[in-house]
Amino acid sequence: MSNPREYREEKVKVVDGQRPSRRAFLITSASACGAFALWSLHSPKAASAAGGGSKPPGMVTIVEFGANGKKTGKEELARIVKTDAEWQKLLSPISYQVARQAGTERPYTGDTWDLHERGLFRCICCDTAVFSSETKFESGTGWPSFWEPIAKENVVEITDRSLGMERTAVSCRLCDAHLGHVFDDGPRPTGLRYCMNSAAMHFVKLA
Ligand SMILES: [Zn+2]
Repeated sequence: MSNPREYREEKVKVVDGQRPSRRAFLITSASACGAFALWSLHSPKAASAAGGGSKPPGMVTIVEFGANGKKTGKEELARIVKTDAEWQKLLSPISYQVARQAGTERPYTGDTWDLHERGLFRCICCDTAVFSSETKFESGTGWPSFWEPIAKENVVEITDRSLGMERTAVSCRLCDAHLGHVFDDGPRPTGLRYCMNSAAMHFVKLA
């Protein structure tokens, strides 16, 4: 666990091992998160992520959470970098389109927008905890919505100027998976609405 490379490989195994038991995604098309019914498929960071350069991946600090949903500490890990082809093998088509190609699933089609159980939402690609049911709310959008990430350290927010609008894209800190967008029309206490894609996360019920 102390060696980042070993840890990274362990995480990949977990994701791979869970694929057969995970409910199959039946989503075949998508529309944009928010008020825009547009099929969003673009990859602003694909070139750098898939680049075969010799530059070593940077280290990032992630907050880890246990099966009971409680914080277990911080860990410094090497960023997970894979080629598009490698990700495609590990993910369902819709998860690949959303998480690796910055796509958006069609609203009301994911498997967690209407989920009310207690648990953690983890990155579909690397298992990093990104949201908790504690901050999930009914947004009426058909996408799982939260007023705060589980830990600021675990996500990255960047300005996204695709599709002729300016939005803030939210991605996983460890593996750069696109998760969704954040808007400023959310409920208290933050006033934020993290509009996520079900296909970019997998839900783990509290133990
Ligand atoms: Zn990730």
